[in-house]
Amino acid sequence: MTVIYFDNNASTALDDRVLDAMLPALRHTGNASSWHELGRWARATVEQARAQVATFVGASPAEVTFTSGATEANNLAIKGVALAAGRRRRVVCAATEHPSVLQPVLALGRAGFDVQVIPVDRHGVICLDELQAAITDDTCLVTVMAANNETGVLAPLPVIAAMAHARGSLLHTDATQLGPWGRVDLHELGADLLSLSSHKMHGPQGAGALIAARGTPLEPLLHGGGHERGVRSGTLNTAGVVGFGTACRLAADLGPGAAGEAGRLRDLLERLLTAAAPTVVNGVGAPRLPGTLNIAFPGTEADAVMVGAPSVAMATGSACSTGVPGPSHVLTAMGLGPDLAGASLRFGVSRQTTSTEVEAAAAAVVVSVDRVRDRDREVVPR
Ligand code: PMP
Repeated sequence: MTVIYFDNNASTALDDRVLDAMLPALRHTGNASSWHELGRWARATVEQARAQVATFVGASPAEVTFTSGATEANNLAIKGVALAAGRRRRVVCAATEHPSVLQPVLALGRAGFDVQVIPVDRHGVICLDELQAAITDDTCLVTVMAANNETGVLAPLPVIAAMAHARGSLLHTDATQLGPWGRVDLHELGADLLSLSSHKMHGPQGAGALIAARGTPLEPLLHGGGHERGVRSGTLNTAGVVGFGTACRLAADLGPGAAGEAGRLRDLLERLLTAAAPTVVNGVGAPRLPGTLNIAFPGTEADAVMVGAPSVAMATGSACSTGVPGPSHVLTAMGLGPDLAGASLRFGVSRQTTSTEVEAAAAAVVVSVDRVRDRDREVVPR
């Protein structure tokens, strides 16, 4: 069966040009730390990739630390800043953060730091008054994601940056989901630290970066041979880094047309799915990523709708939370009850999605929703 792929918030397809760039690094042995010819070749390819990532985010190459992905980058940013911060012992984040942000923040709380999780409104936007009140002179880090992976809701980062900086705090943002849609500028966003993941932007899995503005105090989490200027020890994943760099170059070259086209296809999908009325679009009242649609079909269970439409790859929550029982913490934070949260599905349009795919997927999902609702009506005892 051909599967129509709408799980792009979880992982995107490798771009052919990325694969081509990676092949030489996969074929040739060479440790980027070795002195001989092959080691120096690996080092040169890694440094070229570092420059590509730096250009993508408007930073200098020395501000880029390669990691195994955004989970590691988020952990490094949060624990690394907190451990290096001295007397400032307070960390603030939003309730809808990815688990790779929420969990390190909560772990700092268990280790004696003062942590505060700020609620969001019903559209999924962080409550700015509560955020402002939570940032004190003891705050070392505010961490708020640029775009939510479940709803696509965007954060007003420059406003948040001004609040953090006014109290002398650093701002970290998990910009993983912004990656595929064009340049992500560290300074325009106002962030001091920014996380990216390669596989969300048509690069390979297992690569990512933390970009930390020059002079940001950061305690390493991985000690060892002193790779990455001592911030992240461990042999570099040369092929992964090269693929990530190429993915950044391709995304940096995109004009506004790519996001515009994805937004058009997402809106088409949204319109076609409303044929399965009633529907509720989660986060529709806030600015959103162009490609993300989170939609509830009241009176269904999202799992049952997915089983009934096996030709469509979609998701019920964040893929990283798979295996964690219960409704999505993001939708719950937005005020959805368990029924509506459990009836919600996420679709992610990518740069490669076509309108034919949108039409076919919408038709299959609408049929499945109708079938689940009919079946559940039949089993309701009279
Ligand atoms: N942050 C966000 C917003 C994500 O969507 C993801 C992936 N689900 C991650 C972090 C983790 O990224 P990685 O898979 O590279 O560890």
